[in-house]
Amino acid sequence: MEIINRRQRMASITRKLRRENKTVGFVPTMGALHEGHLSLIAEARQMSDVVIVSIFVNPMQFNEREDFKKYPRDLTADAAVLTDYQVDYIFAPEAQEIYVENFSTYVYVENLTETLEGAARPGHFRGVATIVTILFNAIRPDFAFFGQKDAQQVAVIKRLTRDLGFETEIVVLPTIREETGLAMSSRNSLLTDEEKHKASIIYQGLREAKIAFRGGERNALKLADIVRRKIETEPFARIDYVSVVDAETLAPIEKIGENAATIAVAVRFGLARLIDNIVLNKKQ
Ligand code: AMP
Repeated sequence: MEIINRRQRMASITRKLRRENKTVGFVPTMGALHEGHLSLIAEARQMSDVVIVSIFVNPMQFNEREDFKKYPRDLTADAAVLTDYQVDYIFAPEAQEIYVENFSTYVYVENLTETLEGAARPGHFRGVATIVTILFNAIRPDFAFFGQKDAQQVAVIKRLTRDLGFETEIVVLPTIREETGLAMSSRNSLLTDEEKHKASIIYQGLREAKIAFRGGERNALKLADIVRRKIETEPFARIDYVSVVDAETLAPIEKIGENAATIAVAVRFGLARLIDNIVLNKKQ
């Protein structure tokens, strides 16, 4: 395994791999790796000849300076884990390697980015779309792996991949959870053990809504209310939003019909802002 810091070097390695007809699987991350990331990396290892993991805490996607500063970072521990997972390259550039002097080009994905996390975190998806475009352009992966945990991010990346004509297949994998149901996240390390335990209320709320959906409830407000009321039983929790949206377009819906729907939530616990979601569709 090799750690690459320079964008040019990353691009020249992948150029050579393409000439050798090797398939490249790419997993973009911000590090502080946990089992959620590792599930993506394991799948990348299965599907591709060469696996590249990027570790870059992208300043452009943080709308709060404090959040950026306190984001957990541990490249040494991450590199040790990635060796065990037979990753071929880690791409870990410094910010100035990506955002060169007078950087002024941004990727903006319309509509999809105006709701949910986009509304709560202005500029976040512009940062995500811009960095993913830069990374895809340097690496040109055959496959890129993303977690359903960040449902809106998945929608944004699928759209930009299609719109900009990247020849990369976007592979989306399920959310990995703690035994309590709490979705794994690098941000969980900002929680005390007690907060972590209490934060499992988020998934309990989502599960209750799913049970109601299975029982025939199709009214989006009522389903959102089930989630909201459950989470509100936990005094530590401060709800940012609970929204029922179309799973593909992320447009808010009133009644769940033929198309799959996503219940997306953002909740603050202590120092962390946690997001989670569950997909409801008739096949379940
Ligand atoms: P991050 O390092 O938070 O930017 O996440 C990098 C990738 O890992 C993204 O595609 C996330 O959606 C994915 N990911 C994060 N947490 C989980 C999880 N609990 N289960 C599955 N994938 C995850």
